Amino acid sequence: MLSSKELQRYSRQVMLPQVGEEGQQKLASARVMIVGLGGLGSPAALYLAAAGIGELHLVDGDHIDLSNLQRQVLYKTNHQGKSKAVVAAQQLAAANPAIRIYPHCQMASEPWLRERVKQVDLVLDCTDNLEIRHTINRVCYRAGRPVVMASVQGFSGQLISFDFSEGKGPCYACLFPPQGEAEVQNCSTTGVIGPALGVVGSMQALEAIKYLLDMPVSSLNKLHLIETEAFALQALQLPSHSHCSVCGV
Ligand SMILES: [Zn+2]
Repeated sequence: MLSSKELQRYSRQVMLPQVGEEGQQKLASARVMIVGLGGLGSPAALYLAAAGIGELHLVDGDHIDLSNLQRQVLYKTNHQGKSKAVVAAQQLAAANPAIRIYPHCQMASEPWLRERVKQVDLVLDCTDNLEIRHTINRVCYRAGRPVVMASVQGFSGQLISFDFSEGKGPCYACLFPPQGEAEVQNCSTTGVIGPALGVVGSMQALEAIKYLLDMPVSSLNKLHLIETEAFALQALQLPSHSHCSVCGV
């Protein structure tokens, strides 16, 4: 049963047939890990906290820099130099004090993720690092946890989700086989427009909520290309690759 405060706080979504009181309770009992509290993680985390996701794990080893403030909307000018995970947790707790929020001030290493991912129900990959993305993919696949991945460069975004709960692919490595260190490119070397991160990060939060409510997840095994300059959306179905180094047989 939802308390009267909860009914009031979440009334505008509880009144939706897709949510209802039962759905709100599913959200309240969900545990979600957000890796990367930058341009994508900021809107994703704000919406998931506001929606009443019961437990949020925030993973980021970075500190807030002046150049982050153009797009990382969790942070204000007076937060410069502070830990992103800690400030994000404070901001989200102010938005919704009724949920449990755990900051993890560290980079997502494979051994750490292996221990932690099995303790959550869903992972959001909001990093801008291809090597970490492949690590998250591998760990989620082995732990049988769903993951919602996204990236944005310039005005262009990509979004794709995988549900590994049945121990099957496809996975991110089917789509982009790991190439090694040479491919690493992130938004510190390429430009990015802030609202495009807002759009795509919000889509990640939407997909997470749909998954947790047992609704169809539109980006499941489908690479969505989101061109915010022309408002064009394209979806490409991803087949499993039997020779994939992660999910292949
Ligand atoms: Zn694969």
